[in-house]
Amino acid sequence: MRVLITGAAGFLGSHLSDRFLAEGYEVVGMDNLLTGNLQNIEHLFGHDKFTFVKHNVYNYIHVSGDLDAVLHFASPASPIDYLEHPIPTMKVGSIGTMNALGLAKAKGAKFLLASTSEVYGDPQINPQPETYWGHVNPIGPRGVYDEAKRFSEAMTMAYHRYHGVETRIVRIFNTYGPRMRLHDGRVVPNFIYQALTGKPLTVFGDGTRTRSFQFYSDLIDGIYKLLHSDETLPVNIGNPSEITITQFAEAVLKATGSKSEIHYIEPTDDRITDDPKVRRPDNTKAMSILGWEPKVDLETGLKETIDYFKTRI
Ligand code: UDP
Repeated sequence: MRVLITGAAGFLGSHLSDRFLAEGYEVVGMDNLLTGNLQNIEHLFGHDKFTFVKHNVYNYIHVSGDLDAVLHFASPASPIDYLEHPIPTMKVGSIGTMNALGLAKAKGAKFLLASTSEVYGDPQINPQPETYWGHVNPIGPRGVYDEAKRFSEAMTMAYHRYHGVETRIVRIFNTYGPRMRLHDGRVVPNFIYQALTGKPLTVFGDGTRTRSFQFYSDLIDGIYKLLHSDETLPVNIGNPSEITITQFAEAVLKATGSKSEIHYIEPTDDRITDDPKVRRPDNTKAMSILGWEPKVDLETGLKETIDYFKTRI
């Protein structure tokens, strides 16, 4: 069995590569290293079932030999990354997805799309089931990511319906863990970095926005199960334990033992334009069709993540 993972040098792509190798698969990892980092996969160089190809998937993708599955994880994924790289974000989520689907079709391979809870935008219902169509501002700063992922989902369904490609769509909710970039701007690395270096934790707004944080190992397990299921419609994978950003800051202070203060700030740039006020997955579908549920609680996951970031500071 042989799979292609695009975005293999990223946070999730690298963990997925580990999982598929552990299951005995051969893995071709592809990344253009725009936001990915070779350090995430350096332990795999020399593994006889892993090959790495530096390539930008919005250019034609050539992979020789058979493939059983294409897992499309390439994309800038943090708000500051897609604000800094808006056009590559749109290209990888449109032309890149089309190329990855075309490759899957040519190889007779399954295709799995890494989609996102951002397809729900700033949701008007909470929790969000897969049947919710979302509330996205197409022309706002987050639109480049949200709409590229929505386009990717539409393109994936078109390849399934028109070409009969066996496709899967995972809608990934906030995920954290080792190999996130220290300065990717997301709240998990930001707060851990700030707590470990004695800087104030910067809560945007009044701290009442909510998120539901999932440890990476739960997500990887959900993705593995989804690929091996028969479900072609989107499936949410996330941890339903919803907390406010203030509560999250307090959890980071407790887990690190830091004496940092919590500062409430209003960024003047685009980072919080259209920032969803609430987010929580409805996991009913994943539980019933995949027999999946998250296992790692915030305290356990934070400890492992903090240990990792300590080695990076
Ligand atoms: N956030 C914050 N302080 C930070 C970074 C983020 O208060 O230093 C907030 C942000 O406004 C959002 C939440 O934390 O409400 C999660 O942001 P993140 O960038 O991690 O991911 P998102 O869920 O928005 O994609």
